[in-house]
Amino acid sequence: MRPELLPRLVMASANPHKVEEITLVLEGLVSLKARPTDVPDVVEDGDTLEDNARLKAVAICEATGSSAVADDTGLEVDALSGAPGVHSARYAFAEGMGAGEGDSVANIERLLRELAGVAPSRRTARFRTVALVRHPDGSEIIATGTVEGRIAEQPLGDRGFGYDSVFMPVEGNGKTFAEMGDEKHSISHRGRAFRDLARRLNCS
Ligand code: IMP
Repeated sequence: MRPELLPRLVMASANPHKVEEITLVLEGLVSLKARPTDVPDVVEDGDTLEDNARLKAVAICEATGSSAVADDTGLEVDALSGAPGVHSARYAFAEGMGAGEGDSVANIERLLRELAGVAPSRRTARFRTVALVRHPDGSEIIATGTVEGRIAEQPLGDRGFGYDSVFMPVEGNGKTFAEMGDEKHSISHRGRAFRDLARRLNCS
């Protein structure tokens, strides 16, 4: 499709890892604009991933007057009854650990501590992403993506971000996301959510 005919979206995320992943998945399908630097961060205090994605997308949509796209991700660990889930970013901070919300080293430290002594077969988990487009008329398009896997007993690999070094996807031949290159995008929660979102955008 000619670039000027592609759906245009302003990104709510400025996280370089996320922006790179989203750009790779949506290249040629959507025309993406970077998040404006002068819009303050929103407090992500929704009860669900969808609520948080909406909070972020609405803030950018209202500030720019343009359609905006946001995503929110949670790591659901079965042995922890689905925690940290929607609280994944502030998992350690909520316990008074780490340098602030989104401190991945502290988040991983708490996760491994909570799972100490849990056998590999019971360390099942999944990443879930909700991707949400908000248009200026208030209409929305929502897509989700998940990837099943297991929590490793120690961090492995130095690529990616967040919990990548302790998440071993089922399709990953025993490697964590942090040990993968671009293969992460073909199987990841975010890749799946944004491919689904692109399908819905081009159909609607
Ligand atoms: P958010 O979607 O940016 O709010 O992310 C919530 C939490 O999940 C943060 O701690 C992120 O670092 C983590 N996270 C989000 N996406 C990924 C991912 O693709 N891999 C590993 N961790 C992630």
